[in-house]
Amino acid sequence: MCFLEFEYDGDRIPKVLKCGHTFCWGCIQKLAKTKYIRCPNDGKMFFLKKNDNLSHLKKNFKAMNNQ
Ligand SMILES: [Zn+2]
Ligand SMILES: [Zn+2]
Repeated sequence: MCFLEFEYDGDRIPKVLKCGHTFCWGCIQKLAKTKYIRCPNDGKMFFLKKNDNLSHLKKNFKAMNNQ
């Protein structure tokens, strides 16, 4: 969504939302509101638990192999 290439470190790590779409960590942090994340691809909302720091989201290094 930010059109930057994925990397293994920092804000460019590819992360998978529960709907299966992959975004870089930096974008996900911008998408995350206080109580939910909204996927820009399909509009699905994922509610966050209290103190959820999103670290449970899976990394998607497969996405990097496609480039
Ligand atoms: Zn991004
Ligand atoms: Zn999605």
